[in-house]
Amino acid sequence: MSAWPLALPFDQSLTLKMAGKTLIPNSNVPSPSSFSISPAMEAMAENPKRRPRRRRAAAAAAAGEPGAGAAVAATAVEDMEDFAKGEAESLRASLLRWYDEHRRSLPWRAASGVDEAERAYAVWVSEVMLQQTRVAVVVDYYNRWMKRWPTLRRLASASQEEVNEMWAGLGYYRRARFLLEGAKCIVDKGEFPRTASALRRVPGIGNYTAGAIASIAFNEAAPVVDGNVVRVISRLKAISANPKETATVKRFWKLAGQLVDPLRPGDFNQAIMELGATLCSRTNPGCSSCPISKQCKALSLSKDTKSVEVTDFPAKVLKAKQRHDFAAVCVVQIMQGADENHVFLLVKRPEEGLLAGLWEFPSVPLDEDKVDVGLRRKEMDKYLKKSFNLDIRRNCKVVSREDVGEYVHIFSHIRLRMYVELMILTIEGNLDKLAKSEEQCKLTWKFFDVSSIETMGLTSGVRKVYNMIKGIKEKKLSHPTRGTRKRIKSL
Ligand code: SF4
Repeated sequence: MSAWPLALPFDQSLTLKMAGKTLIPNSNVPSPSSFSISPAMEAMAENPKRRPRRRRAAAAAAAGEPGAGAAVAATAVEDMEDFAKGEAESLRASLLRWYDEHRRSLPWRAASGVDEAERAYAVWVSEVMLQQTRVAVVVDYYNRWMKRWPTLRRLASASQEEVNEMWAGLGYYRRARFLLEGAKCIVDKGEFPRTASALRRVPGIGNYTAGAIASIAFNEAAPVVDGNVVRVISRLKAISANPKETATVKRFWKLAGQLVDPLRPGDFNQAIMELGATLCSRTNPGCSSCPISKQCKALSLSKDTKSVEVTDFPAKVLKAKQRHDFAAVCVVQIMQGADENHVFLLVKRPEEGLLAGLWEFPSVPLDEDKVDVGLRRKEMDKYLKKSFNLDIRRNCKVVSREDVGEYVHIFSHIRLRMYVELMILTIEGNLDKLAKSEEQCKLTWKFFDVSSIETMGLTSGVRKVYNMIKGIKEKKLSHPTRGTRKRIKSL
């Protein structure tokens, strides 16, 4: 039921068979595993004599078949029609009227009327958070953030650790890092950039965020294009080209630029995004209450042609296949006197790459065929010795060591299976005596007590590991004579 292929001409050299489907590679993703399915190409692969649907539709239109003219209206990206002046004006008026009546009351919208730079800061924080998760979740995060750092200047004086702590649970910590870097950069320059092009020069501010801040806070007629805007425009224009293709993305920006209201650009951008987030939803659009249904080509196509549905737009693009990774994670607890003085070893991840600069328990990557407990422990022992001078045969004593369980953490492109163990140690002398070689100095690591770990900004994966450990300890406390899980080996 998906729309037919329009982004690319049919070219047999491009086709690939996967699970019985013919797929179009998504050229924006280098991995050959990312494709959008083209039903017409699928049909042609099944029956090479069959004409692609677009040509069939064109032939049917020429023959005067009912509904065929509408089907031809879906065009290739280079042929995508601009919005005519009158069409754009009518869409703006309808959307703004609807927005004035139906806009959701959200805390960052309450910032209207305040100083422009303050508003820009509020828009920036909310937009970055909204790129992470749903509005309902963002509201809480936003309110806590603004309570702690009500101004850009206050944020600029925060530490990365404090920002991570506040961001914990939202994921993709790189965005939080850029917020802090961007805040410092703007404070250094002394003025909040007022145009989309100037905003794009701030670290971490891309086209979308620049458009949102410039239009909402500074009233510049700059467009925004996010998933919601793509959905609305692709339905309005019945665009079935691959929305991830660079050429299509460029066209969406151009079309959004033609639509944005010159007098109320911020409200217009929020209106079109709000329509996409509420009425024009991905799977269940409420076309009967839509303020722009009269101009919606996808709706008219779906009425004229039984096999077309509005949800066929935008074209579906298969996600890149996830990579499967494996890691041994060791929660190292050092005993020193009373329980509350026990500490845990945490390591800072490198400043570049996945989860850059965030704290985690010591972990080592594993090959898929080397995950049995003996091999994992061997790898971990080598790592602890080399990186932290923790030698379980020489300078420390293992009080207990047990497997706690496995946990699979899903990143957008990686499925990481972690084999978690808890190792409780005592060490000879005090912690400061752990010597640091040159190799060890390359790593940033630290011992944290329980109360620090409870409050610090840990990624959801690390927090999950910590909670597994807590769960084991609590079970032991409630059933002191029963093992919570088979102890693999105590050294
Ligand atoms: S008519 Fe339906 S599909 Fe078209 S824009 Fe409105 S809600 Fe979306």
